[in-house]
Amino acid sequence: MAADFDLFKVSEEHDLLREAVRSLCEEKILPFAADVDEHSRFPQEALDALVSSDLAAVHVAEQYGGQGADALATCIVIEEVARVCASSSLIPAVNKLGSMPVILSGSEELKQKYLTPLAAGSGMFSYCLSEPDAGSDAAGMKTRADRDGDDYVLNGVKRWITNAGVSEYYTVMAVTDPTARSKGISAFVVEKGDEGVTFGAPEKKLGIKGSPTREVYFDNVRIPADRMIGAEGTGFATAMRTLDHTRVTIAAQALGIAQGALDYASNYVKERKQFGKPIADFQGIQFMLADMAMKLTAARQLTYTAAAKSERGDSDLTYFGAAAKCFASDVAMEVTTDAVQLLGGYGYTKDYPLERMMRDAKITQIYEGTNQVQRVVMARQVLAGGLSL
Ligand SMILES: Cc1cc2nc3c(=O)[nH]c(=O)nc-3n(C[C@H](O)[C@H](O)[C@H](O)COP(=O)(O)OP(=O)(O)OC[C@H]3O[C@@H](n4cnc5c(N)ncnc54)[C@H](O)[C@@H]3O)c2cc1C
Repeated sequence: MAADFDLFKVSEEHDLLREAVRSLCEEKILPFAADVDEHSRFPQEALDALVSSDLAAVHVAEQYGGQGADALATCIVIEEVARVCASSSLIPAVNKLGSMPVILSGSEELKQKYLTPLAAGSGMFSYCLSEPDAGSDAAGMKTRADRDGDDYVLNGVKRWITNAGVSEYYTVMAVTDPTARSKGISAFVVEKGDEGVTFGAPEKKLGIKGSPTREVYFDNVRIPADRMIGAEGTGFATAMRTLDHTRVTIAAQALGIAQGALDYASNYVKERKQFGKPIADFQGIQFMLADMAMKLTAARQLTYTAAAKSERGDSDLTYFGAAAKCFASDVAMEVTTDAVQLLGGYGYTKDYPLERMMRDAKITQIYEGTNQVQRVVMARQVLAGGLSL
């Protein structure tokens, strides 16, 4: 934590966790962040460091061998990893996203079978909702799961799947009843090794270049019916409930990216001299820093409030998850853009990390529902009433 920002104190345990994760990230993840981005390669060093410190999937309950971290602690881990390398922060974030359907709606057998290796670091989890023609309108998906005896047979294409090809396990939403739209969608666990599962080439992206994003193809993939998560027809509801919780983690990722940019820029302006003095002495620079810190502080408070609601399962989590993700990601875009500005021409080059942070920040406004969609979600809950504001 930046020394000046004790406002962000939460509890002694959370502060100790932040301190420990920060030093691990600075030692083991930061040194590779630029190379991971430059070569669009998977951050294996980050995965190794997170797994060996039991931080790759901290949210998994102790009964499955996990750390049993609460929603806020999980946010702090993601935030601290994102502060040095946004691509790497998708390891803990997407492990939570992919496994949350099992945690929320899965049978005890599924939990034992899939959460245990996730917690042990022997298999990551991905989340397969989006399709080429079903993005914001995810309920318009076409991937089918047809019952055949004791099995389901999956056919279709999922698009934009984070960590696809690297993850061992995939939560896949598929249509089991095409007449029922969202109520005809069911969720399944598919394994990387299931026959008929293949992956597309990695997408060439603007940012988070170290996080592989691929299509996933299902060609007559036969899986036992007990891999269904919850009851038939409940998959879309589970997918949406999952996003309520995990949009909070994307907010945390956005906070981390913005904090990294603010920390870097505020050190830089104290060193860089123009007109015979550090540029930090100019009030125009100071006002920019003040605004960046103010927005970041507000985003952090909203995110941590949403994390508390996620932990308690409050009825207005849908609103708070969307609000935190939307607000924090907009702040991350503004703060990283301003941080580039504070470095002048140097900020625009790859010799400094800020252009990477600005590119990485952009995705937080897009995935897990675009920020337009977050506003649709928030407005729905505002109009329905029941917000404890
Ligand atoms: C790098 C990356 C990683 C991703 N990871 C995953 C993943 O792991 N799993 C997964 O399932 N998905 C993933 N996604 C998919 C992501 O969630 C979708 O890209 C996102 O939901 C938007 O869908 P779309 O791209 O089809 O855009 P579209 O839905 O086509 O939207 C295009 C534009 O129209 C706007 N729009 C659409 N509907 C409305 C509306 N009703 N009101 C106002 N504006 C609207 C959108 O906001 C956007 O600006 C990932 C995407 C990316 C780029």
